[in-house]
Amino acid sequence: MSSVKAKPVPPADDYVALVLLVDDQVFVGEAVRQALEDQPNLDFHFCCEPEEAMATAKQIKPTVILQDLIMPGVDGVNLVYEYRADPLTRDIPVIVLSTNEDPLTKSKAFRAGANDYLVKLPDPIELIARIRYHSKAYLNQIQRDEAYRALRQSQQELLEMNIELQRLNNVDGLTGLSNRRYADDYLTKEWKRALREKTPLSLLMIDVDEFKPYNDTFGHLAGDEVLKKIAATTKKCFARPADIIARFGGEEFIVILPNTEHNGANFVAEKIRRNVELLEITTSNANSKHVTVSVGTATIIPPRDELPTSLIKQADMALYQAKREGRNRVVSASGAVIPTQK
Ligand code: GH3
Ligand code: MG
Ligand code: MG
Repeated sequence: MSSVKAKPVPPADDYVALVLLVDDQVFVGEAVRQALEDQPNLDFHFCCEPEEAMATAKQIKPTVILQDLIMPGVDGVNLVYEYRADPLTRDIPVIVLSTNEDPLTKSKAFRAGANDYLVKLPDPIELIARIRYHSKAYLNQIQRDEAYRALRQSQQELLEMNIELQRLNNVDGLTGLSNRRYADDYLTKEWKRALREKTPLSLLMIDVDEFKPYNDTFGHLAGDEVLKKIAATTKKCFARPADIIARFGGEEFIVILPNTEHNGANFVAEKIRRNVELLEITTSNANSKHVTVSVGTATIIPPRDELPTSLIKQADMALYQAKREGRNRVVSASGAVIPTQK
């Protein structure tokens, strides 16, 4: 048995090097073609018309360009500048192939954006090694760029999904209004602001009158449609950017009016009551021909020792007073009498 161990097999090159040689001399093209002939995974293209170099590069998308410098009518260094200026060829490695060994010429070529410089005709082994090295580096860079792009895209998608989830988390599915969770958070925030700034904070509790009989008569789906209409109408009754309406639950809505006095709150409440009545949604009710709402309003300049829920309680109490007094009306927790408009 032989004690000589087999050499580890290097990993197969699973990429294809695509070489584009730009040179006006056909014999150079032929020499390079022969040098590369037996190479696996290597495609060779030859362009002997320098005017067509750019178009050919864009078309075949080489992994490396071998570029002659001195050609009739076209300066190879200028061509290198051109490759670098175009997004489609900007990153393709360029190996300059030149008869000129002058360091100044080499320096010019590098300044134009060349990646490497070989004097013609180079040794085939060295030429192949450089072609492989530059092609692989280029393909790796493309892969890395693509991975970064995909990463950035999925990060962006995740961000958008999170924003959408957060929005859905705060939205009532039936009416499209904010939901109770959002209203609770908003009230807490505005309570703190009003406490700091010593400004009045108003709150309306709205409840649909005799809605159970409506559902019993017309069905739950018809009832849902009514809630949607009331939501849409109510939303249009106030205009300040800080005002919000939310579905508080079931057939109850809450309106939060920051920096708003009693009078303003009662004005908005009466407008809501009136606009719902004007929708003229037919009921089977003995007391009222149309669907109506009752509204309780409360206003407070928050004292230090109270919680935002105290404002909800006050508005709730006013609301139930409105119910007791006959529904389809606004009652203010302050005791102010709000005239009902016909
Ligand atoms: P009141 O004037 O005293 O408010 O009478 P009401 O019948 O409206 O009051 P109650 O609290 O007894 O009933 C509320 C009803 O609202 C119960 C249910 O039929 C209806 N409701 C609650 N949530 C929904 C909903 O999401 N969709 C529909 N269609 N109806 C709902
Ligand atoms: Mg209710
Ligand atoms: Mg009700």
